[in-house]
Amino acid sequence: MKNGCGRLSILIVVFLCMTFCLGGCGASPQENGPPNIFLLTIESLRPDHLSFYTGPRPTSPNLDSLAKESVVFEDAHSVTSWTLASHASIFSGLYPSAHGAVGARSRLDDGVMTLAEILSKAGYETAGFATGPYLGRRHNLNQGFEHYDDSAATVGLSGGAHDDVTTPILEPLVTQFLTSRRDEPAPLFFFAYLWDPHYDYIPPPPFDTMFVDSDADPIDVTRYESSLIVDAGISEAELRYVESQYDGEIRFTDDYLGRFFDLLKEQGLWDNSLIIVTADHGEEFFDHGQKGHKRTLYVESVHVPLLIKFPQRAQVGRDDRLVSLVDLFPTILEAARIKSDVEHQGTSLLQSDPKPDRSIFFELLSTFYHRMGEGQGFKKEEQEWWGVRQGDDKLLLVPADQRVELYRTRQDPTEQLNVAIEDTELVGRLSEKIAAWRRESARLGRNHQATEAELDPEQLERLRALGYLGPEPAATSSKASADSPTRDEGG
Ligand SMILES: [Zn+2]
Repeated sequence: MKNGCGRLSILIVVFLCMTFCLGGCGASPQENGPPNIFLLTIESLRPDHLSFYTGPRPTSPNLDSLAKESVVFEDAHSVTSWTLASHASIFSGLYPSAHGAVGARSRLDDGVMTLAEILSKAGYETAGFATGPYLGRRHNLNQGFEHYDDSAATVGLSGGAHDDVTTPILEPLVTQFLTSRRDEPAPLFFFAYLWDPHYDYIPPPPFDTMFVDSDADPIDVTRYESSLIVDAGISEAELRYVESQYDGEIRFTDDYLGRFFDLLKEQGLWDNSLIIVTADHGEEFFDHGQKGHKRTLYVESVHVPLLIKFPQRAQVGRDDRLVSLVDLFPTILEAARIKSDVEHQGTSLLQSDPKPDRSIFFELLSTFYHRMGEGQGFKKEEQEWWGVRQGDDKLLLVPADQRVELYRTRQDPTEQLNVAIEDTELVGRLSEKIAAWRRESARLGRNHQATEAELDPEQLERLRALGYLGPEPAATSSKASADSPTRDEGG
């Protein structure tokens, strides 16, 4: 959106929020104090598959309704393209190199100060509900949550995380929690992570047929990541079918969100709450030749939806500023009226934008093992990508391939035409920005040493039986090497 109202609208938000909250707002204890805060992250969610962005299908009627009461950010981006590193950045306001949780087996360092820790110390009740393995306790993103339920995050260990359907497990847990705390005096910081849009795209009926057009050509989308059926050679009609199943997963998730929003309204937790909905990253549908995520930092992998409903709908509209998910850390703390001296790398979205040339950064530093197919072993993929967006210019650096890619995102929003050779001076300036940001991240991260997540013997045995652990002797230890083939947890 380019209506130019973004910065002004946010200033109005701050003013109205302050006026409202200081003026007295009713009977419940929260209404005269800091707001309740709800932070929802949805897995692998592309904005261009949502109807309140540019999605052509009605995938998100409940989010569409929320958007009408919210500020919708048009140009919001994740810091990376996979789950663990992204969530750790949301929680800490630090880019991955600074918080250190950059490996598939990383356990976030206890020394990283998270939103839940700071809010808890400031008097908030903190509760988290996780689906999807990377939000399980072993990765330590639960630090600071008094109540943290990850029972829906580990079901995949007995089956295969990619085809788990977790919302039906999550829903009664969340409902039980929210209906039993109605008269709590403390404000609430509530986090939930919704896993189901992750591949395999196998939505339950009726969502499996809801978006299958007559000209789509159904193909088998099970075992999606290792599938040799779904590859870059599929036809347009087959790709339409694949995307129809992804859209069905989104609608299935949105269906639950409708019930969740109704619950908040029933519990009196709607009008005075700050509600934030975003995604941990996007998803590729062969836009640059690949599928899934955690392989690149192109726009389809990092552009995310972001909407914020302010208490009393103090402001609604569209905001076209360039923002990053590291901005949620200072935004939430400011909304909670907490002054914190914890260092971070974000900018509060409640502030007017003092830096029109603001840069946001991207990084992907990981080693993953992708299953090649049944009985075919693993393919090792090491990733090192660095990126920056400044204004409409985006630079990506991939040192291993000596790749330098510059995109003019206004003229080329899908990042197809590399113009690096046409503007070497700009490439140089943006490269220097990346270098300076990396030095800053290294400084911030000097005290953060992510360790390896513990897997208990039972988990290891299950993984081995499923073929997720490779032949290396690491499986004999409860601390398997981070460099050993293990199941990709799907993120
Ligand atoms: Zn993810």
